Amino acid sequence: MSEYVSTLMSEVKAKNPAEPEFHQAVQEVADSLAPVLDRHPEYRRARVLERIIEPERVIMFRVPWQDDRGQVRINRGFRIEMNSAIGPYKGGLRFHPSVNLGILKFLAFEQVFKNSLTTLPMGGAKGGSDFDPKGKSDDEVMRFCQSFMTELYRHIGPDTDVPAGDIGVGGREIGYLFGQYKRLSNEFTGVLTGKGLNWGGSLIRPEATGYGAVYFAAEMLEARNQTLQGKTCLVSGSGNVSQYTVEKLLDLGAKPVTLSDSSGYVYDEAGIDRDKLAFVMELKNVRRGRIQEYAEKYRTALWREADPRLEHNPLWDHKAQCAFPSATQNEINGKDAANLLRNGVYLVAEGANMPTDLDGVVQFVDRRILYGPGKAANAGGVAVSGLEMCQNSMRYGWTREEVDGRLRTIMRSIHEACVGTADRFGSPGNYVNGANIAGFLKVADSMLDQGLV
Ligand code: NAP
Repeated sequence: MSEYVSTLMSEVKAKNPAEPEFHQAVQEVADSLAPVLDRHPEYRRARVLERIIEPERVIMFRVPWQDDRGQVRINRGFRIEMNSAIGPYKGGLRFHPSVNLGILKFLAFEQVFKNSLTTLPMGGAKGGSDFDPKGKSDDEVMRFCQSFMTELYRHIGPDTDVPAGDIGVGGREIGYLFGQYKRLSNEFTGVLTGKGLNWGGSLIRPEATGYGAVYFAAEMLEARNQTLQGKTCLVSGSGNVSQYTVEKLLDLGAKPVTLSDSSGYVYDEAGIDRDKLAFVMELKNVRRGRIQEYAEKYRTALWREADPRLEHNPLWDHKAQCAFPSATQNEINGKDAANLLRNGVYLVAEGANMPTDLDGVVQFVDRRILYGPGKAANAGGVAVSGLEMCQNSMRYGWTREEVDGRLRTIMRSIHEACVGTADRFGSPGNYVNGANIAGFLKVADSMLDQGLV
C-alpha cells in the first residue's frame, strides 16, 4: 500500500468509525487510484479523492408508522447525497434490517463511480431504512412508505435527487413512495425511477440490472473469443437482479444452476429453465415466499439451509464456469473465492454491490480471471434509470427494443472504458482498476472545473 493510501485510510477510519463496509469500498478505490494520483498531482493538490469520500449531504430522519395491530413502530430513514459533480444525485433506496449509515455510505460512494461509467449525467446517492418489508402486509408497507416519503420529499426532485429501488424496494414500494410524493408536492414528475409502466416507467427497467450483468459477462468472454453458450452458471439471490440474470442467461444459451435467499440455497443440476424461472418469479414477486419451495416442487433440486456457523457459503462450491453474485455485499469471502477458482470458475460478473470481500478480489485479480466488479457489471440498472429520466423529460416512451439496444450499447461502452483505462494505467485485463479509474476521472475533472465546492 502506498504511503498516501495508508495515510488516507487511517484518516477515513478515524473519521468514520464502525463503518467497515465504507472503509472497504474506499480502500479498493484508493488502491486503484494510486497510479493516477502519481501521474496527476493536480488531483492530489485539489484533494479531489478526499472530497469525494466526504458526502455532500447526509440526511437522517425518524420514520414513525402504525402496524396492523395499531402499535406504533419507529424506523430510521437515510439519504446520502454523495456527489453531484456530473448530474443530479441518483441511486437506490434499500429497505432491510441490516441498513445503517456505513452500509449506505459505501453504496453511495460506489454509486458515484458507477454512474460516471454509464456515460449518462448522474451524480451519486443512496438511501433507505432499517425497515424490513418481509412478513409485513401491503397496508403496513404502504403506511411505512408514506411516512418515509413525508420527510424525504423535501430533499428530492427531478433535477435534484432521483431515488430508485434496491434490496427490499421493488415496484410495490416505488408505487407507494411515488403516490405520496405526488400528493405532497402537487407535481407529477419523474422523481423516482422504476415506476410502473402506466405512470412514467420505462420498459426494461425491471430487467436492466440482471440483463446488463449478463451483457457485461458476454463482453468479457467475447474479448477472449468465447460466448456464454453452454456455460454452467452459479447465481445467488432470487430477487430482481437474480431473476433477470437467469432470464438473460437462458436467452444466451447458458445453464444457471443455483438461486438463494437469506434462508439458504437451491442447486438444480438439471438447470433452471424458463418454466422453473416463471415459478420463482411468481413465488418471489407475488406470493413473497421462500426459495426452499423450489426444491419442494422440483425434485432435481437440492435444498441447503443457511448455516451461520459456516465460514463459507456452499453455494460457491459447485462445478461451474461462471458466477453471478446477485444478493448482497460480502457474500463471497476469501474461502468462497478459493472454492470458486478450484471448481473451475473463470468469470465472475457482480450483479450485487461489493459482493466480494477484499481477500476474494485479490484472488480473482491475481489469477487473472474475467472479474467484472459491481460498479461496471451492474451499472445497467442505473443506466436504464437514466433512460427513464430521459423519457420522462421528453414525456415520451421508447419501445422495448430501443431501450434494450441502448442498454446493450452502454454495457459495451462500459466494458471498453474498463479495458482501455486499465491498459492506459499499466494493469491490462484488470477490470477493477479500469472501472475505478475511468469512473473517477470524469468526476474528478468535473470537480476541478467547478472549483472548490
Ligand atoms: P431484492 O429484489 O430485494 O433481492 C435481494 C435478494 O438477495 C433476495 O433473494 C434476498 O433474500 C437476498 N439477500 C438480501 N440480503 C441478504 C443477506 N444479508 N443475506 C442473504 N441473502 C440476502 O434486491 P435486488 O434489487 O435484486 O438487489 C440485489 C443486489 O443487487 C444488491 O446488492 C443491490 O444493491 C444490487 N443492485 C440492485 C440494482 C437494482 O436495480 N435492483 C442495481 C444495481 C445493484 P431474502 O429475501 O431472504 O432477504
